[in-house]
Amino acid sequence: MDLAVLKKQYPMGLASTAMDLDDFGHLSRYARNGIGILEATPIVTDNKSWKVGNEQSTQAFINLCRKYRVRPNSIHAFYLAELGHDMTDVDPAVRKKAIELNSGMFEAAAEIGASYVVVHLFNEKVRRSKGESLFYAKEALLQLLPQAERTGTSIAVENLYHDWTIEQINKLLDEVNHPLVGICLDVGHAALYSTAQDELALCGNRLLGFHIHDNGLEDDDHLIPFRGKIDWPAVCSALLKNGYQGTLMYESFSREEGETVDQFIDACYHAYLKMLELLSAASA
Ligand SMILES: [Zn+2]
Repeated sequence: MDLAVLKKQYPMGLASTAMDLDDFGHLSRYARNGIGILEATPIVTDNKSWKVGNEQSTQAFINLCRKYRVRPNSIHAFYLAELGHDMTDVDPAVRKKAIELNSGMFEAAAEIGASYVVVHLFNEKVRRSKGESLFYAKEALLQLLPQAERTGTSIAVENLYHDWTIEQINKLLDEVNHPLVGICLDVGHAALYSTAQDELALCGNRLLGFHIHDNGLEDDDHLIPFRGKIDWPAVCSALLKNGYQGTLMYESFSREEGETVDQFIDACYHAYLKMLELLSAASA
């Protein structure tokens, strides 16, 4: 298939984590590579480039995106348990606060024009049975849904580790059964407990988006694709089989020694081009 056609069918997205974690100052490099889609992952509430919920900061962030012709199409909800952002925390008071905080993400999504919010509804450090994990995930999801409905923003539930797989998420989505809820397939996470291609096959038409990154099949390295051991030709074949067309969102952030943020963004773009070549070969 023609490269220009493929670029339209599978435009590149790059999560803000490719830049310094709390600073989106390198969007000019996105523009230089023609990367037009951003997933905004603020990580901390006092992110230098975007304080979610702060009117002035939001306007400045929107202006920055406009300047570099980058569309923030998704937001990653706050998730760091050590900052009290775990919506399934063992402490009900922490859960409540984390859910309140992340409920604000939907208004924020509406303000910046994002169509979905990626959420973590599981913490691998908390020992729970699969049934208990499902229970707390569902509790959190049901509390987020009114804000999703009010703003027309979808929720993409992300697969995490061994006990929070696409199978678990499918169970959750079967129970909640809501048109605004779908899946964000994290390809790197999938490769740590199964294979990305097998997990992709289980997503069906629930797939809202991706987190594409690589690893050595042992740790969640968040490398640029082709720097790790994931079988990318197999992932591309599975992607074509799924029929998903939309953004290929890269969520790599581990730079090589001495690699600058700008070099890293360029390398992400080259990995994207390589993936398009694989898609082209697989579709021939
Ligand atoms: Zn991810």
